[in-house]
Amino acid sequence: MNANGCQRRAIPGGAYNFVFVQQTSPAMSAQLIDGVKLSHQLRADIAVRAAALTEAGTRPGLAVVIVGDDPASHVYVRNKVKACGEVGFHSVLEKYEADLPEQALLERIAALNADPAIHGILVQMPLPKHIDPSKVIEAIATTKDVDGYSVLSAGELVANLPGFRPCTPYGCMKLIETTGVDLRGKHAVVIGRSNTVGKPMALLLLQQNATVTICHSGTPDLAYHTRQADIVVAAVGRRNTLTGDMVKPGAIVIDVGINRNDEGKLCGDVDFDSVKEVASHITPVPGGVGPMTITMLLMNTLESAERRLAKNQEKPAPDAGMVPQPGLA
Ligand code: NAP
Repeated sequence: MNANGCQRRAIPGGAYNFVFVQQTSPAMSAQLIDGVKLSHQLRADIAVRAAALTEAGTRPGLAVVIVGDDPASHVYVRNKVKACGEVGFHSVLEKYEADLPEQALLERIAALNADPAIHGILVQMPLPKHIDPSKVIEAIATTKDVDGYSVLSAGELVANLPGFRPCTPYGCMKLIETTGVDLRGKHAVVIGRSNTVGKPMALLLLQQNATVTICHSGTPDLAYHTRQADIVVAAVGRRNTLTGDMVKPGAIVIDVGINRNDEGKLCGDVDFDSVKEVASHITPVPGGVGPMTITMLLMNTLESAERRLAKNQEKPAPDAGMVPQPGLA
């Protein structure tokens, strides 16, 4: 067979002709990017750093606030508080009835902003309809915005300034990092443009010098874009958005989506079975991005506490630099 995939075949009379023989690439099975394992490693490191901070007098503290009785949200906040305990953080869980007035919630946030034992504040979304989520997010002190959802945190990300990165895309970047692939010059396609996942994801990839395309519900030919991508991040919320025929061989595929299949089992946006035969690396659902989101929330809270300690250490002691005056005891 020649390089073009043509094979020389004998025909009657001793002559030869060339026929095109389709080459099938050998079946490939992608390496799993294990979010559970990476989370364990990162949380072990967080616990060590938290112990050192506590020793220095600054125990990292997270406040989690939930309003209403959405059962899924209650599970999420319980998991966040449990994770805090496992890495040695202080945490408070504030639960309020669904009819809590907006002003009362804003007052609670002001109190948590002023509380020196708290380094991160998370208000679980969604909030009841009568509460404006953006008012609540913007009420959180920027130094405690560990979800990274405020306009200022978003601006810091756009401007490449230090700040809190939204936890899910931050976790996706850590997962991509485990592949050892240098993102410089790679083409990344992000499917989804939400403020909490798609847009910050695209910016984080851009910071690592990837060439980034953002696709959304108005993108006419999604497969045209994804087939060119070295990295695909799917953050849509619709299963089977990305199938094997839409993926370039050897691509890294990160599945952010959380959906249910016909049997009621958890699944992502990616058709795992077909994509794993084409991709080089892939995250499973569950066990991929999911565990990383809470881990990065812990990381942001830890870093907030570290910054606070560093700032406190910068401050001169109240009487430092004062020259004793004669006659004064
Ligand atoms: P979202 O706010 O609903 O955004 C979904 C995005 O997908 C939108 O930008 C939408 O485009 C786009 N989209 C919808 N249909 C599309 C299509 N056919 N082709 C291309 N793009 C399409 O959702 P999200 O908050 O970003 O979350 C996305 C998924 O990730 C959900 O399943 C969510 O549950 C999951 N999630 C998981 C974690 C985790 O920890 N694992 C954390 C956060 C979110 P338009 O902007 O044009 O509408």
